[in-house]
Amino acid sequence: MDIKKLIEKNKNIAIILTIALVFGFIGGTKNMTKSEYNTALDTKQKLDKQVVEIDSKIEECKKEVEILKAQKDEKEKKAKAEADRILKEKKAKEEADRIAKAESNTQAQQETNSNKVDDEKSVLTILLGEKVWISEKGNKYHKNKKCVDIKSKKVTQVSIKEAKSKGNKACKECY
Ligand SMILES: [Zn+2]
Repeated sequence: MDIKKLIEKNKNIAIILTIALVFGFIGGTKNMTKSEYNTALDTKQKLDKQVVEIDSKIEECKKEVEILKAQKDEKEKKAKAEADRILKEKKAKEEADRIAKAESNTQAQQETNSNKVDDEKSVLTILLGEKVWISEKGNKYHKNKKCVDIKSKKVTQVSIKEAKSKGNKACKECY
């Protein structure tokens, strides 16, 4: 810290000056006039006071440094927590996307399979001729075995061609 360095430098100068003055006038007391002595004493007291002030400024600076350091630590902590949170959210989203994609793929596959089965059924129907249900005494053929018209009757499955040849007409419920 520049201010701190400056103050410490000044403090050192003040201490050196104080020591120099004290020794200076111990050494030269004999030759000093009363007024010179008083001036030197006054200067020494002023310097002592400055040293105390500088010391207190240093303490203030140290405290400030502590506070700034604590603030910096707190900020870093918060930034890290935020970064962690974002990373977690990102991972959760990626996982959700992955699952959604997998589900969508499965669904698409199922649809494809289902379409394939339907196509195969259609081909089979064309090849074998459509099968229908008829009842013994009825005069209609039904696509649906559970049709209301025949569900309580004895039914047999025949080709549509055969059903028509026996005089049956298409059921209006089924067709
Ligand atoms: Zn029917």
